[in-house]
Amino acid sequence: MTFDHILIRFGEITVKGRNRSRFEAEMLKQVKHALRSFPGLTYIRTFGRLYIALGNEPYEPVAERLKDVFGISSFSPVKRVEPELGAIREGALAVMRSFPQREATFKVKASRRWKGFPHDTMSLNHLVAAHVLRNMPHIKVDVHNPDIELNVEVQEHHAYVYCEVIPGAGGFPYGSNGKAVALLSGGIDSPVAVWYAMRKGLEVEAIHFHSYPFTSKEAQDKVVTLAKRLSHYAGSPFKLHLVPFTDIQTRLAQTGQEHLIITLMRRSMLRIAQKIAERVRALAVVTGDSLGQVASQTLSSLNVIGRTCELPLLRPLISMDKLEIIAMAKRIGTYETSILPYEDCCTLFVPKSPATNPNLRVVERIERGIPELDEMIAKAVEDTETLELTPDEPVPAGSSAADRDDWF
Ligand code: ATP
Ligand code: MG
Repeated sequence: MTFDHILIRFGEITVKGRNRSRFEAEMLKQVKHALRSFPGLTYIRTFGRLYIALGNEPYEPVAERLKDVFGISSFSPVKRVEPELGAIREGALAVMRSFPQREATFKVKASRRWKGFPHDTMSLNHLVAAHVLRNMPHIKVDVHNPDIELNVEVQEHHAYVYCEVIPGAGGFPYGSNGKAVALLSGGIDSPVAVWYAMRKGLEVEAIHFHSYPFTSKEAQDKVVTLAKRLSHYAGSPFKLHLVPFTDIQTRLAQTGQEHLIITLMRRSMLRIAQKIAERVRALAVVTGDSLGQVASQTLSSLNVIGRTCELPLLRPLISMDKLEIIAMAKRIGTYETSILPYEDCCTLFVPKSPATNPNLRVVERIERGIPELDEMIAKAVEDTETLELTPDEPVPAGSSAADRDDWF
């Protein structure tokens, strides 16, 4: 195998100044957890980067797993050699030979992190390129727009050679930016919104409103499946709060204000979400709203609905198009579950013409007409059931889902 290490680069962490070392330690923990089923790997932290020695582990499945870890901006399969010209040249040749194209252009980009190395960057570029050209007659140099950029990084104890830079998931390590609750329906949008919130380093606890027995057991299973999938990205058990919403929904429907029912329901949902957020010490509420997508997501509706919530309302999908959201849902592995045809509590009461421009005063007056609403909201919070979910992945050898130490 040409490559024996993986070089991992952290992205946004670098902007964090003095918190950097804490972030790096957290990253290492999360990477180790994500790769826990590969016991042959060794981890080396140096120069604000992380190197993984593959040992006998295969590169491809490790790389696949790394693509889902938040906080990694990119990574590269690298070949490690002695920090000495002959070894570097041979390593560079081996890396170039691993490319299938016979005729390609390349350029060498050396960087010298160890100032004791006897050749400066310019001469190292030339010395390495000359060796490749001599041994690979079909390869040409193109310094402006090469097919292959051959990187050589010289450190005191090792030198690393690589060409490929694979984009990572980006963002911040999971949980490093605080905690939020998220409204998770069984639809396409909200799981994607949760994923984006998680990627920004927010620890997320999901809240789902169900109207059992009007909504089926299958509808609830669907949300559980989505939450399990999201737990894969968390790298820790993912909490799902299941809120019984039947009574509130029925009471709101009794007002006879059919066109405002979704607005009223959403306002009650947010009030409940806020109470749960207080309990679990979360400082924001995430939703899957996307501007203009449906009647409840016009600016006017978002305004009337959002008034009930004092915490910051985070809407990662607000400016995304549906097709972009669908593409992301497919990428993160939630789409197939989201399109299963089970009813949501809101679809039960979907009016023929939902208000696109609800009037705040009218909505508040209707709510004042239900003096027991506050009590019902408090009861829904009391009766909330909380699940802790882990991915439906094969449990790695030597650990079990019940083994909490395994989760950091
Ligand atoms: P989604 O695909 O996320 O369901 P949507 O386009 O169908 O979104 P709505 O159904 O109007 O839009 O919901 C808007 C947002 O309200 C959702 O993204 C979600 O955050 C929240 N929401 C809706 N229904 C529920 C529910 N039953 N439980 C929890 N949150 C919900
Ligand atoms: Mg929906």
